[in-house]
Order: sequence, then C-alpha cells, then structure tokens
Amino acid sequence: MTTDDFLSLAATRWPAADLAHLKQAVAFATMAHHGQLRKSGQPYVTHSLATAATLINLGLDIETVIAGVLHDVPEDTSHTLDEIQQQFGSTVAFLVGGVTKLGTIKYRGLARYVENLRRMFIATAQDVRVMIIKFADRQHNLQTLQYLPADKQLRIARESVEIYAPLAHRLGMGEMKGQLEDLAFPYLKPTEYAWVKRLVGERYDQLEKEIETMKGRVDRALRQADIPIVSIHGRRKYLYSLYEKLQRPENRGDITSITDLIAIRIIVPSVAQCYNALGLIHQLWRPWPKRFKDFIAQPKPNGYQSLHTTVFGPLGQPVEIQIRDQAMHQAAEFGVAAHWHYAESGKPVAGQQVHPKLEWIKELSEWKKEYDSEEQYLEALKIDALHKRIFCFTPNGDVIDLPEQATPIDFAYHVHSDLGQRCVGAKVNDRIVALDTELRSGDVVEIMIDKKRRRPNRDWLQIARTQTARARIRRALRESGS
Ligand code: MN
Repeated sequence: MTTDDFLSLAATRWPAADLAHLKQAVAFATMAHHGQLRKSGQPYVTHSLATAATLINLGLDIETVIAGVLHDVPEDTSHTLDEIQQQFGSTVAFLVGGVTKLGTIKYRGLARYVENLRRMFIATAQDVRVMIIKFADRQHNLQTLQYLPADKQLRIARESVEIYAPLAHRLGMGEMKGQLEDLAFPYLKPTEYAWVKRLVGERYDQLEKEIETMKGRVDRALRQADIPIVSIHGRRKYLYSLYEKLQRPENRGDITSITDLIAIRIIVPSVAQCYNALGLIHQLWRPWPKRFKDFIAQPKPNGYQSLHTTVFGPLGQPVEIQIRDQAMHQAAEFGVAAHWHYAESGKPVAGQQVHPKLEWIKELSEWKKEYDSEEQYLEALKIDALHKRIFCFTPNGDVIDLPEQATPIDFAYHVHSDLGQRCVGAKVNDRIVALDTELRSGDVVEIMIDKKRRRPNRDWLQIARTQTARARIRRALRESGS
C-alpha cells in the first residue's frame, strides 16, 4: 500500500482538517522505518500503512488508525514511545505500547512470549483497541507470509489459529476470525487445505446457480409483503471452518452433508421484519426439520444474533438462510469494533474502568498465578479461554461459562474452590448425573456438597477438562498432603 493510496482511503472517512495528525504520523513512520525493508523487499512502512488501512475499513476512530501507522516504531526503530507520546498524545502512545513487545533483557524464550501475551491482555482489558490493532497487524503479516522461512511460517500460522482467531471469535469479530484462519490454513495444514479447496471447487458451481434463483424469489416475496430489503447476498463458508466441520463424526469428510456451504443472508431493517421474513421463507420452501435456530431471542455466548433456518431448496437440497437486522449484521462483522463507545475526541486512558464484557480478558492476564510453568499457562489459555464456550446456570440463574466438554467438576471449581472441594455429586436439570457427564449450553447445574468434606478426589484430575479446575485440584491435594 502506497502513502497516496492510504491517504485517499482516509480522506473517504474524514475531512481534510482532521487528517493533519494522521499525515504527520505517516511522515513520522516513513522517516523512522527509512531504509528498512520487509522480507518481501517492500519498504517497511507499507506494512504499517496496510495495518492502518484495515483499521479504517473496520470503522475505527482516527487515534486507533494513527496508532496502527506507528505500531512498529518503538519495537523496530530507534524512536521511542516517549517521542510518540509527545507528538501524538497519551492515547496513541498507550495503544502503541499495548502491541509493542518487551525487550529481551529480562525474559527469554517461552517466558518472554507468555509475558508479552499477558501484557497485551492487560492493555486490551483497559482498551480493546489494542487487540484490534494486533489483529490488523497479524492479518497483513499472514498476507505476506510466503516471504518468510518455513519454520516461521508454521509458527505464525499456528499462533494465529490457536490464539488470535479464538480471541477474535470471543470478541464477536466473526469476519476477522474467518480471515485469520483462512490466511493461516495453507501454511498450517497444506494437504488438508488442498483437499478442501478441491472439494468446494466442484460444489460451488452447482450451488451458486441455485442460490441465484432463490435470491430472486426471496427478493420478490419480500417486496410483495412490503418488507424493505437492506441486502440479500450469498455468503461462502470460510474454508478453515468448513474443514473443521468436515472433521466432525456426523459429516465424515462428506461435503454434501454440509448444509451451509453457501448461505443466503438477508438483512432487513427491524427485528419484527426478521420474523416476518422468516415466515415468508418457510412459505416459499419447506423448512428442514429441527434446523431452525433463534439466535435473536437466544444470542450465542459471544453475542451473535440472527435467525438461522435450513430449507429444502428448489433442487431438494438443504440451503441455510440467515436473517438479521442491520445492527446485528454490523455486530457480527465487526464485533466489539461495531459498537465503538469511545468518542472520536478520545477519552483519557488513565482511570478507565474495565468494560464488563472485557472482564474475561483481564482474567487471562491474572491467570498466570495459578500455574507452575509457562507451558501450563499456555495450554490453559488455549483450552480454557479460547476454546468454544458453553453457558451453564447455577440454580439461582447465575451464568457460568465454560469450555465445551466441561463436566460438573469444572463447573464446581469455576464457581468457587470450596464448592469443588466439598462436591459429592451433581444434578443437571434436576437429574442426578455422574461427575464426568459433559455439560451442554443451557444446563442448570446443582452441585451437591458434604460440608465436612475438605479435599478433592485424586480421580477428578482425569474428569476435569479445564486447567483452572485441575490447577485447583492439584493445589488442594498438595496442601492436604495427599
Ligand atoms: Mn507489525
């Protein structure tokens, strides 16, 4: 990306008068990175501008975009964060500092890596824009991954899929998650990537004609019913997410069993019109039994909202249809970046409260205390925090969110260590179950306790799926000397 391209993109968002600082940042980064080249042979600043351009396209404010332009200055040049603070203010300096890695002096190897992650989580909990800059940075690094040596390609691809994509998912940034995974996929699993590419190539031609016909009929039906249409479009499933779905036992690698390879996405102005549109769709095509999901009334754990239904299409094949209003669409595309609550003027960073929705990120940074080693912390991070989540309830209706496959033992320890220690049994939805039962979203879990009991069973180490529960069990076993 050239400076001219970048500034004309910025000019589509902000009037010339507001661009002075941004231009100054571009000049500063160009000067600071002068003479540095990317592995691709391009001037280094092209990476800074590409990162910042992604932030413009995500709809972020101008301070974040300025921080995007400057994000590699303190780490890779002789210019410091102090200079950035003096020239661009404390908010920009805070954002740049959040994505800047520590020097090598105090920490090395894995310890340094984990420490950098932790610092980024702390900064993100204060201001989520830090993580969004990191995503934009990572996206461009993945786009230019072919220029790096194979071992680095694999490391960056793996980290993107194991850490950054799940973080994007938990922040509700579905598009970002899909893009990061699909960019990493060919490097992470080249054979599988080639296989999935070949499978979809054959199916898409067939499906796309059917989708075009269906879009036309939906368009007419909505117009006749006076439901305004914001947009109707076919969306292709991301390849990595398709690959994961093909791995499930019920699909066994059979692409014809995937019903949302292309989904029709209908955006209408209001929630009421979503339900009206759904009724019309079900009159046009017969709904597939048990495939209707109302994520408007019951949003997914990360806040995703939409109506999903699968119908028998004109050729008798299942076709998924997604219906949502514009706010839901924005939220699904851009997640936390969509309902951006910082005023364009920018609030002072100091003393800012952690947004309740970001509490979990703060916990990620505090977690390390519970583990004996960096390896354990990283495993816990991947499994507990970034795996797909389910939501269960205490009998009082409090929500406890856990990774998939969690058991009542995990549930007990996540509520409180004491509840875990005293656990003797569990009821799920009023029925007594074994302690190794896998919980599902929506389960009401009641832990039965013995007040005299003070320590866990050693067997629970096998039953617990979360590292949090295991760490607490291990600690209790150590403290009780057993
Ligand atoms: Mn960078």
